[in-house]
Amino acid sequence: MDTLEVLTFLVWLIASVTFILALKFLASPATARRGNQLGAAGMALVVTWTFFTTDGLLANWWIIVVGGAIGSVAGWLGAKRVPMTAMPQMVAIFNGAGGGAAALVAVVEFLRDADLHPGELLPLAFVIATLLGAIIGSVSLTGSVVAFGKLQGVISGRPVKYPGSQIVTAALFLAVVGIGIYLAAVSPSIPLFLLFVAISLVLGVQLVMPIGGADMPVVVSLLNSYTGIAVAATGFVLNNYALLIAGTLVGASGAILTQLMCKAMNRSIFNVLFAGFGTGGDAAAAGAEGEEQLREISADDAAVLMAYGKRVIIVPGYGMAVAQAQGPVRELMDLLVARGVDVQFAIHPVAGRMPGHMNVLLAEANVPYDRLKEMDEINEDFADTDVALVIGANDVVNPSAREEGSPISGMPILNVDQAHNIIVLKRGRGAGFAGIPNPLFSNEKTTMLFGDA
Ligand code: NDP
Repeated sequence: MDTLEVLTFLVWLIASVTFILALKFLASPATARRGNQLGAAGMALVVTWTFFTTDGLLANWWIIVVGGAIGSVAGWLGAKRVPMTAMPQMVAIFNGAGGGAAALVAVVEFLRDADLHPGELLPLAFVIATLLGAIIGSVSLTGSVVAFGKLQGVISGRPVKYPGSQIVTAALFLAVVGIGIYLAAVSPSIPLFLLFVAISLVLGVQLVMPIGGADMPVVVSLLNSYTGIAVAATGFVLNNYALLIAGTLVGASGAILTQLMCKAMNRSIFNVLFAGFGTGGDAAAAGAEGEEQLREISADDAAVLMAYGKRVIIVPGYGMAVAQAQGPVRELMDLLVARGVDVQFAIHPVAGRMPGHMNVLLAEANVPYDRLKEMDEINEDFADTDVALVIGANDVVNPSAREEGSPISGMPILNVDQAHNIIVLKRGRGAGFAGIPNPLFSNEKTTMLFGDA
């Protein structure tokens, strides 16, 4: 091993350590920014090192510099400008770019090797890694673009299904497997390989179109994991350990996140991918509370009730994100705390529309982290709470989850109904993401404060 190789391994090692530490820091809102910067610095180190030390890259410096500049500016502006409510679609499109990049690397490597050794079989490990990179990266690219379109409202958020669509999906999948085996075992034919990539791209669209818009965050998390696997495969193809490790970390953490989200919604990943549940949330199900009488409360009365309470628990949900109400919510907290009220925030793991949605918003409004309590940590305290103030949350406080036969049966919920008084702040009778009535609103202890959060 020459000095350059040793140094390269060292750079990969340092970068990999920064990736692992970044994930560790990202686990808490207090350290998440540092984690993000650390991971980015590690990645910048590997990219710069690779650029200056890999044969042939410097000769094509202008392509890399121009491409890098366009990507950096687009990424920087996109991330700076995106409103917090549009974060899931931004993650989707960035993820698609990652999947597409991994697929392109696989395509270029396959074409180059097939061209260099015409008519010969390529080494099996190389073919498997390239084909995996190409198929998973392609599915992730087009799947993420569809997810972006659904979340952004460019295409219908409803599950798009047609008769026999699952048979078409299965046929496409079998075609890809069949062509893959042929390419590996019979002949690395370039036209067939391009067909393989084209079918993979269609497969991504075919897999995501039948899923409802509101389920997209789970799908994006799953596609994120796919991108990680595709990147790991290209790391193998290019013999680049940093890429291999980064891809594996993304693949594993994406898979864990997907599993946690499904668990918090009490749904299997199979149910998310194939059941067509949740078709766009509140707008789709307006009026779902029926015509029951709901007791109203004025803002003044709500203020008095909270100001004279000893303990208030605030339960934020998707509506708080829509209204961007985190700043005023923090001011409310300050006023109550100044009066000696004990104020805590109860955070449900799937409140809002993306993991950590409420934590991010409340952190943005400088709500101290120690006031944010996870569901398991705070659920026992509701029984001993004067006022539970629900702000734009619905499904995560719906007691029908405790009953058999409801679409959300078994989903763990915040025990808001155990509080002495419950105030629900929402605009009207709109249902939540699951589109079902919420008996909490007609509970005798509940009063409704109608309005934009
Ligand atoms: P929900 O989507 O259940 O309910 C949100 C409520 O907010 C609606 O009932 C709506 O009622 C109200 N609302 C909307 N806009 C406003 C506004 N401007 N001011 C006041 N209220 C408003 O939200 P939850 O957070 O309780 O639950 C999240 C749901 O999303 C769960 O079902 C979860 O499974 C799902 N989900 C979560 C993901 C995640 O990662 N967090 C990912 C995918 C799905 P009204 O129209 O009457 O105002």
